[in-house]
Amino acid sequence: MTQVKKKIAIVTGASRGIGAAIAGRLASDGFTVVINYSGDAAPAEELAREIEETGGTALTAKADVSDAQAVARMFDAAETAFGGVDVLVNNAGILKTLPLAETSDEEYDRHFGINVKGTFNTLREAAKRLNDGGRIVNFSSTTLALNMPGYAVYNGTKAAVEAFTHVFAKELRGRNITVNAVAPGPIATDLFLNGKSDELVAQFAKMPPLERLGQPDDIASVVSFLVGPDAGWINGQIVRANGGVA
Ligand code: NAP
Repeated sequence: MTQVKKKIAIVTGASRGIGAAIAGRLASDGFTVVINYSGDAAPAEELAREIEETGGTALTAKADVSDAQAVARMFDAAETAFGGVDVLVNNAGILKTLPLAETSDEEYDRHFGINVKGTFNTLREAAKRLNDGGRIVNFSSTTLALNMPGYAVYNGTKAAVEAFTHVFAKELRGRNITVNAVAPGPIATDLFLNGKSDELVAQFAKMPPLERLGQPDDIASVVSFLVGPDAGWINGQIVRANGGVA
C-alpha cells in the first residue's frame, strides 16, 4: 500500500497559547508540525513529546521571527528534516497595551519587529519555498476593529498584517496557495491575561454575545479549517473569530 506523504506545517510562536493549540490540532489533523518559539525551549519540547506520543511527528525550531536569518534557518531545518513546507501559520506575536504618548521607541520597535517584520520575514521566505498548493494563515486581532485606548501600536502592527494578507494572496497568483488571516477576539492566554485585573478580564469575557472568553482551541479549529481541504476557495480573507464582539 502506498502511503500518502504527510503535509508539513510551520507554526510560529507555537510553544504556548494559541500557537500550541494550533500545533496540537494540526498534528492530530495529520500534519507534520514545526513548533517555533524564541525563548524557553521547555514548553516547545514538551509539546513535541506529547505530539510524538500520540503518533504525530513534530520538530522544535528556535527562531526569533523578527530575525530574517533565523527564519531562513527555520525553513532550512524543516526542509532538511521533512523535504519541504506546505503550510505556514504566522501566529507569533506580542502585545503590551500602553497609551501611544507613553510608548518608548524600544517598545514600538519590538512590536513592529515581531508582529510586522516577523510576518514579513516568514512570508518572504514562504514565497520562495512553500510548496504549490500550500496554505498561509496570518494573525491579526479583533482589537483592530474596537479602537480601544492603549492599542494604537499593536493595532498598527495588525493593520499591516491585514494589508500583507490581501496583497500577498494576489502576488502568489498561479501557485494555488491561499493566504488568509484570523483576527481573534479575547482568548485566555498569557498575552491577553498578563497585567489585567480579574475585574477587567470579567469585563472582556462579557463583551461577546456568547459571554465567555475564547479558548486557544476556538482559534485552532478555525486555522484547521483554513489549512484543510474544505477551505480551498477562501483566499485573501480576514476571519474574525471573536464570539461576535465586533
Ligand atoms: P502568547 O500566549 O503570549 O504566546 C505567544 C507565542 O509566541 C509563544 O509561544 C512565544 O514563545 C512566541 N513568540 C513570542 N515572540 C516570538 C518571536 N520573536 N519569535 C518567535 N516566537 C515568538 O500569545 P497568544 O495569545 O497565543 O497570541 C498568538 C497570536 O494571536 C498573536 O499574534 C496575537 O497577537 C494574536 N491574538 C491573540 C489574542 C488573545 O486574546 N490572546 C487576540 C487577538 C489576536 P517564546 O516566548 O518562547 O518566544
